[in-house]
Amino acid sequence: MIYLDNAATTRVYDEVVDAMQPYFTCLYGNPSEIYDFATKSRRGMNYSRKIIADSIHADVTEIYFTSGGTESDNLALLGIAEAYSNKGKHIITTCIEHHAVINACKHLEKHGFEVTYLKVDNSGRINIKELERAFRSDTILVSVMFANNEIGTIQDIQAISTVTHRHGALFHTDGVQAFCQIPINVKNMGIDLLSASAHKCHGPKGIGFLYVKKGIKLSPFHFGGKQERYIRPGTENIPAIVGFGEAVRIASQKKNYNYDHISFLRNHFEDRVRKEMKYVVINGNKHNRLPGNLNMSFAFLDGEAIQIQLDINGICCSTGSACNAGGKSLSHVIKAIGVPDDYAYGTVRFTFSDDNTIEEIDKAVDILKNVIDKLLNMSTEYNRFINKTN
Ligand SMILES: *Cc1c(COP(=O)(O)O)cnc(C)c1O
Repeated sequence: MIYLDNAATTRVYDEVVDAMQPYFTCLYGNPSEIYDFATKSRRGMNYSRKIIADSIHADVTEIYFTSGGTESDNLALLGIAEAYSNKGKHIITTCIEHHAVINACKHLEKHGFEVTYLKVDNSGRINIKELERAFRSDTILVSVMFANNEIGTIQDIQAISTVTHRHGALFHTDGVQAFCQIPINVKNMGIDLLSASAHKCHGPKGIGFLYVKKGIKLSPFHFGGKQERYIRPGTENIPAIVGFGEAVRIASQKKNYNYDHISFLRNHFEDRVRKEMKYVVINGNKHNRLPGNLNMSFAFLDGEAIQIQLDINGICCSTGSACNAGGKSLSHVIKAIGVPDDYAYGTVRFTFSDDNTIEEIDKAVDILKNVIDKLLNMSTEYNRFINKTN
């Protein structure tokens, strides 16, 4: 198998599994208890919180563990909406957010909030002037993702936070894809709230955090004990938290190597596609893109058909389009960046990790070329096009 779907989830590092193991078997104490045995659990959690806080230049008291990226996004949006509703009921976001943000906004719209969904240019970036114009006197929150999960486009976070603060609103960013892939400094970048998830950076599934800058009010939507300072009560998932910390520790340690290796693999894949294949466009922003993201659209083809053929050949990748019972469907991101229709339905995404090797990449491109040739030959749209041009 060649795994090229690291934006969907990543392999848990062996060191992460090793770090978690004792907290399942020997160190199972409840961290809320005061005896020494329970203190060991608490220490594991605190150590992890410190590694994570340091990695984004935050304080440990600003990190709230959650069940993952989805919950962090929900907590940020719903928590700020409720806490600041007396100040205003307007939120600004974008039309390319993850569904965890979009559907939280849809929920808020049913409860008296108004949401502006900013458009993006054809590389997936928002326009700062358009953001500027979207503010109203009752705008309380701007939520713009750091980097997009489908096309890898990185936003100008600094510019967005500056404009947001000038208008007296708070700035949340879904940093799930950016965290551990590119440097994040919440202080310098003016980030008030940031969501992240462990399983996107070689940690376990079902654990994430929300960074909330000191002094910002946040209403919880879970109610219980005093864990996570009443913001996210419930006995902490200690093994997962410890594993998350270890994944972040490893990522911090080899961040330069990883960045270079992963972008090298991506660039090699992309160069070969550009040189050796026809009727394909590369999506996203050439200069502001996650190192491990390669999203492209093939004319005349269906993304799901490409995905299935690659799967038969042992390659895992993702698609931005699907041919399902209701007809053809396109992802909201591919729609938003305006990929022409004859290309858009043939969208596939390859996302790389430090596990991948150059040999895997070359093999994957060879297989992709064969798959595309085979599908083109079967495509009525392609054959019609060829007959017309001949
Ligand atoms: C994966 C992802 C999420 C959801 O994270 P989970 O931990 O799977 O709930 C949210 N936002 C983005 C950008 C993601 O890529």
